This record gives sequence, C-alpha cells and structure tokens, in this order.
Amino acid sequence: MNEYYSEFISKHPEYDGSEVIKKAFDVAEELHANQKRKSGEPYIIHPVAVAMYIAELGMDENAVASALLHDVVEDTDYSLENVESEFNEDIMRMVDGVTKLTRLKSQSKEEQHAETIRKIILATNTDVRIMIIKLSDRLHNMHTMEYQSADKQIEKATETMQLYVPLARRLGMTRLATELEDLSFKYMNPKEYLEIEAKLGTSKAATDNNIEKIISQISVLLNENGIEAKIDGRIKSIYSIYRKMHEHNKTFGELYDIIALRVIIKGNEALDCYKVLGILHKQWIHQQQRFKDYIGMPKETQYQSLHTTLISPEGFSFEVQIRTEEMHKTAEYGIAAHWKYKTGRDPKSFRFEWLRDIAEWQSELSDSKEFIETLKTDIRREYIYVVTPKGDVKGLIQGSTALDFAYSVHSDIGNRCVGARVNGKLVPLNYELQSSDLVEIITSNDKKAPMRDWVKLAHTAAAKSKMRLFFRRELTSENINAGREILSKAAEDNGCSIEEIMNHELLLPIFERYAITSEDDMLASLAYKALSLAQILPRLVYGAKQNRNRDINHGKQAFIIAKGHEDMEIRISKCCNPIPGDDIIGFIVQGGIIAVHRKDCKTLHHSRDFRNREAVEVEWCISEEVHNRFTVELQLSASDRIGILADVASFLSENRISISSINARMNRDKSTCFMNFKVDVGSLAELKALVHEIEQIEGVQEVYRINS
Ligand code: MN
Repeated sequence: MNEYYSEFISKHPEYDGSEVIKKAFDVAEELHANQKRKSGEPYIIHPVAVAMYIAELGMDENAVASALLHDVVEDTDYSLENVESEFNEDIMRMVDGVTKLTRLKSQSKEEQHAETIRKIILATNTDVRIMIIKLSDRLHNMHTMEYQSADKQIEKATETMQLYVPLARRLGMTRLATELEDLSFKYMNPKEYLEIEAKLGTSKAATDNNIEKIISQISVLLNENGIEAKIDGRIKSIYSIYRKMHEHNKTFGELYDIIALRVIIKGNEALDCYKVLGILHKQWIHQQQRFKDYIGMPKETQYQSLHTTLISPEGFSFEVQIRTEEMHKTAEYGIAAHWKYKTGRDPKSFRFEWLRDIAEWQSELSDSKEFIETLKTDIRREYIYVVTPKGDVKGLIQGSTALDFAYSVHSDIGNRCVGARVNGKLVPLNYELQSSDLVEIITSNDKKAPMRDWVKLAHTAAAKSKMRLFFRRELTSENINAGREILSKAAEDNGCSIEEIMNHELLLPIFERYAITSEDDMLASLAYKALSLAQILPRLVYGAKQNRNRDINHGKQAFIIAKGHEDMEIRISKCCNPIPGDDIIGFIVQGGIIAVHRKDCKTLHHSRDFRNREAVEVEWCISEEVHNRFTVELQLSASDRIGILADVASFLSENRISISSINARMNRDKSTCFMNFKVDVGSLAELKALVHEIEQIEGVQEVYRINS
C-alpha cells in the first residue's frame, strides 16, 4: 500500500473510500518515481503536500486528485488525454488549467510565462478551484524555497507578492494570502524581515502580557452583558508590521499598533456585533477615522466584520475585529469556506466580477507583457463599495470614477451616459468615487456612443476596454465616409479644403489627446458622434491657415539666388528665419536642397553637422513688385508696468502688423517682463524700423530677434 496515501487518509479520513484519490496517489507516485526535488527529497512529496492543503480546505475529491496530478503533464510523459481517460474530464480540466503552456518558437521565456498566467486566470473564470490549486502549489514551493538559487528565490518571491498574494486576497483567502506574503517578504527583504522578527522576539513577553490583559478585560465586559464569544489575540504578521512602519514612517519602537484582537461571537447574529462594538466604545476611546463597518457594507469577497482601533489607558492602540462565527469562516477562507464548512452553496459555480472584467479586457491585449503589467496593477488595487439607486452595493477598484461605475453596470449605460449624480449632487464623469457614495447615472436615449476623450476619464481597464471595443466595432467604411463628408463640408465653410486639414502634423496632437489611432478612426468618430467638430475644427483650421502662410515663405524661393546652383531647390531654415537684408549663407543638405541660414545663426555655429558641409554663396534677389512677407519671432523685455502688454499689442495692430501669437512671462523678481511675439515683415529694413518704434513704447527696454 502507498505509504503517502496511508498517511493522507490518517490525517483526512473523510476522503477514505474515494477511488479517484487513491488512484491519483498511485499514478502520481509512479510517474514522479525517479524525480527529485531540489532538496533531494522524492518529488512526490510536493504534489502530496499540495493535495494536503486542498484537503484541509475540505474541497471535493476531484480537486484533491487534481492537486496530486497537477505536475504530471508538465513534468512527465503523461498527457491530458491520459488524465481524461484514466480519471475524468473534470480532473483533466483542472490539471490543464495549472499546466504551463509549451513555449512557442517565437516566444521569449517571459512571454510564455505571461501567457501561462493569462491561461490560469481565464480558466479560473470558469472554475475557481484551478486558482486555489495554483495558490496551494505556490504555497508549498514558497515553503521549500530555501533550496533554490538566490536569483530564483527573489524572482518567485516577487511574483508571489505582486500576483498571487493579491489573487488570494481577491478570493477572500486571507489566511493563505498572509502566509504567502510573509514568505515572500522574507526573500525579498531578508534584512528587514529578520530585524522585525528579532524585535518581536524581544518584546514578546510584554506584548503577550498586554494581549492577556485586554482579553481578560473584554471577557469580563462581555460576560456582564451576557454575550458568548471567543476572544483571540495575536501579533500582526511581519509583513503587515513592516508595511505599517513604512506607511506611517515609524520605527518599530514607535509602532504600538501591532496587536490584533478578534471577538468571534457565537452564532450568526449581526446585531450582537454592534452590541459588542458599543460595549467596547463605551469602555475605551476609539480612533474614529479607523472605524470600518464591513457588516453593513461587505467586501466583494463577502467579508464581514466591524473594525475598530481602541486606545488603552496606558496609551497603546490595538485593533479589534468583531464578527460572528459564520462571518469568521468567510474572513479566513473566503471562497474556500464554502467547501470547508459545507455551506450548501456550490463554490464551483461562483463567478467573480473582477475575473470577468479581466477576461474582458485581456482579450484586447495581444502583448503579453502589457497584460501582466495591467494585471499586476489591477489586481492589487483596493476596493471601494458604492450604493446604487436600488440600494445594491457594488464593489469597484479604488480610484474608479463615475464613468467606471456606469460601465460596470452595463456597456450600454456607459455609452449612453451623459452625467452622474453622487449623493444627490451632479458631478463630472471623472469624479472619483468614495466608499458608501450613492451613485446614479443619467443616460440619454439620443446618445449612443462614448466620447473619445472618455478613455482618459475612466480608471479601470474594464471600462477602457469596453469603450475601445465600441470604437473598433464602429470603425466601418460607412462611418469613415460619413465622417469625411462632415469634415469636408465644415472645412469648406471655414475657407479650407479637407486636404489642408488632414495634415499629419496637425492631426497628431488631436490623436494624442483623444486616443485616436488613425485618420479613419477620427473620421468614423465624427460620424458616430464620439468626437464633435467643435473639439477639433478650430485647431485644424487655424493650423491649416498657418501652414498656408508658411508655404508662401518657403514655397516660392525665387527671391534667393545660389550662384552656380541656379537649378537647385532652396529652403529657408526655420531655426533663424532670415529675411531680406540679412547676411545669409547656404549649405547643400540631404535631398540636394540648399538650406539658407543667417550667417549669425546660432544653430549653425553650434551644429557640428555643418562644419563639414560645403557652403554655397547665396544672395537676396527681391523684386519690387512681389510683396513677400516673412515671419520673424521677436522678444522684448520691459519693466513690469500694468498694461504694457496691451500697449504693445495695440501698437502692433495700429500699424497693421499681424500678430500671430503673444506670450508674456515674468522673470523671478517680477521687475522685468518678457514678451514673445511673431510679426510678418518684408525686409530687414522694415524690421529695424519696427523694432525702433516698439522700443519707443514706455517701459520697453529692449527688442530683439530670437533664434528659435
Ligand atoms: Mn507544482
């Protein structure tokens, strides 16, 4: 008889008589027969240990068998088909769920790993037992991590902390999560771990004494009030102490809040919890901002408890959690409590909203690295609990906005959303929701699409992906054509052509701002009304008209002659914007173009690029009939006099000088202000005259051209 099996049955007689478990022991032991763990022990101890955890949770026989078989497909010749034919489909699916994907040729190790995690998460969405087996597997591996190399230890510990701990918390499996957390912390930060461990050791006697004292005081109080309860006191986990020290920037000695007490009331009467709370608050001072009522507002994991932090007459604070026996089971084991305590509900059929959300947004991320990063941040977030107008409580990731809420109710509510009310007041859609907010979404039947810039107002990957999905679905040729017509007509009404407007340089900032991916995407958005003309048109028209002016400057180049290179194209450099009258010089640049600079151009003097280039002699050749205008940027300094800006602006406009932009700024001591503006002039002589006149304005100190 298999000795591991006998030992298992002696610890868990409730599984005695299960054929699949017995067979799984035999098959696993035979398949792993010649394999060893890094510790030198026979490999089989690992699947047996995992099966032991699963049995401790009281899970069904198929889950225990899957735990025993969880590594056979990955590490032996046994296939999934073998598992199915020798056992059953249920077990095969679980084993499949936790088996690493084979690496494709095109994949890096990281990609393969990320895809494996994606697979486990998706499998968990249909069967939560898969994640529980994976977590138990990780727990045993973390317990035996001392035999691994230092690199591997850190790698596994980090992954556990970033991924598996939050996953366990999401399933409500607090006990498992805390254990994984401390084990990971030990390898990630051994120095701090050992320090805290040592300090807890030295202060243990005193702490235990405090715990004893408080427990007996509470017992007396509860007895007097006829409440039957178990009170247990413990020192918080090493990692949670570490986190508190860092969050509150305190040393261990300054941290009094290391004791956690629990009052577990017999039965399942929630009112008793409030009664105990009242008794404690009457006896001790409590920290109001730390009181939490998770009974009225259970966490999404169904966690229920009252939390309060009390201050003893000696001045140290301690947290007390108050809950009933029933609530305690869920608090410790979360989803697994339904197996362990046979609640009568089938936990296999449980569906988690957050898993569904992940399943949804992951489908649009083809990049596995991005998937893992999004998952890690998403999964770690704390939850807030808001109330719907019907009085339902809804859990959302902390940081969620009113818009996230709308999308979490339904995509259609999100798309048709026009506003939100929180606690009766209208709020913007990016209003960050707080726990216990009453949230109401206002929708309109005329509205069918999310706005393009909403992607930035949402906080959750789920809401963003729902919007992107909508945009992708509506990217049809019909919408693109309709959008082109809308934009074309609007452009013409504003004296531009659509070609002038659809200029890549002009569109880029719009793409950026509205998270648009292409011209077609933008046109379609106009058609299905996710983008309004008002949002984009003024900017495009302004830009197109500016470009037209620039083309006058840079297009007709007949006013500069390059001796000996008469047939070559000439371009005036934007860095120094030479105007007729300036001393100029040309250089042959890429594409056989002559670039013309001012001889005193700063860029020219600082750029190594030009030192080796052949200089070409160029000269101005301006005919009286052609009135070319050249844009020059000027800067002036002036004493900081109220109204100086207005004076300069009115001078320029009186002289019919077109101002393309004015930006004023102050220097630090505020005694001088600087103003940049662009003017269009025909020649250096005209510019000099203009500068002279501006310098006559009261307060103006100096006017000069700038080399942009
Ligand atoms: Mn394993």
